[in-house]
Amino acid sequence: MRVELLTVGDELLLGDTVNGNAAWLGRRLADHGVEVTRSVVVGDEVDVIVAAVTSALDRADAVITTGGLGPTYDDVTRDALAEAAGVALVRDAELERRLRERVAKAGRELQPMALRMADVPAGARVLANSAGSAPGLRVELPGGIAYALPGVPFEMRTIMDEVVLPELAEIAGLPAVARRTLRTARMWESVVATRLAEVEAMDGVRLAYLPDPAEVKIRITVAGRDAAARLAGVEARVRELLGSAVYGAEDESLARVVHRALIERAETVATAESLTGGLIGAELSGAPGASATFAGGMVAYATDVKRRLLGVPEELLAEHGAVHPDVAAAMAAGVRDALGTTYGLAVTGVAGPDAQDGHPVGTVYIGLSGPGGSHTVVSPKLPVPGTGPEIRAVIRRMTVVHALELLRR
Ligand code: ATP
Ligand code: MG
Repeated sequence: MRVELLTVGDELLLGDTVNGNAAWLGRRLADHGVEVTRSVVVGDEVDVIVAAVTSALDRADAVITTGGLGPTYDDVTRDALAEAAGVALVRDAELERRLRERVAKAGRELQPMALRMADVPAGARVLANSAGSAPGLRVELPGGIAYALPGVPFEMRTIMDEVVLPELAEIAGLPAVARRTLRTARMWESVVATRLAEVEAMDGVRLAYLPDPAEVKIRITVAGRDAAARLAGVEARVRELLGSAVYGAEDESLARVVHRALIERAETVATAESLTGGLIGAELSGAPGASATFAGGMVAYATDVKRRLLGVPEELLAEHGAVHPDVAAAMAAGVRDALGTTYGLAVTGVAGPDAQDGHPVGTVYIGLSGPGGSHTVVSPKLPVPGTGPEIRAVIRRMTVVHALELLRR
């Protein structure tokens, strides 16, 4: 069964409304094993909607539209479906009765325009809307079935879950589906995908990659008989292929995993942050019960503050500037000493958008200072995706992930 989406509304074309309905529907259908093969946006124009619905059903078995079912004259999805079906709009007596009842209850007067919501293409089935007044419609067209849902996200979701999804699942005779999300850090999406090629080729197995700066989530979907049992085997193979890059599953954040690892090892950490300005501390303090593992941190942004707060030697700063592996190590040792923790974790580097003291954007040093003067400094090779101001957020986020990863290992 192939389904296409058609989201209707001038506001979507103009960018006034973000197309959350298409995102939600795509996700929801995928979660239920229904294949969405195309998603199109059109404005509030009868001709355009008729053409889009018709061509969608040339390719797919069903089309789901949202928007344009309300009372105003720019709501024309109803008219378009009638035209596509080659039938007239007829007033549905039951819908009219309910509409009048609802308006009377609210102590308002029925606007003639509102009665449009009681009009349906002849032969269409009304899909009850328990969440609002505009009902959904199911219209059989020559090429397949059109489901029309209101644009209001909450109403659309309600009708989708209560009526459309169960019906699609039944039509498609969908098999059991089992799903699992694994989370990885520090591995490129393309590397992850290459390593998982053999899994991707397995029968009934689907992988979706959801990348974030320095993290990739992998959604594994297994369909068919014994889906749940097979999923366990597939997950084990994915973990084997990706090794230590997998840090967790489902909603478990990297900071939470780090927090748990520190608890198990009865260790604590303090942070000294330059380019991340406190983001690492924010992550570490986000885990419930964080005080057991995170002591606190310092934001040492300006070069001179690295010397005054953390005791980074003046000669070091004078000779190399603030972006240097020895500076990261000295910051880490400084905050560890000051707060008396097992570890000091420190970052210094260039978030961009401009290079700094001859260091290109994305040059980052992460220092981890541990017991007995031991220390590690890493300099992850951060990609520089573009040159705009948004690069700062990406580099900073990647730095957070790489820094937390030092604590996990
Ligand atoms: P109503 O009965 O409210 O008029 P409708 O079916 O006519 O419903 P629209 O008028 O197209 O729907 O949209 C109603 C509201 O839903 C608007 O606030 C609109 O911004 C929002 N909306 C419409 N389409 C989408 C979409 N694709 N994604 C997110 N929000 C949407
Ligand atoms: Mg409307």
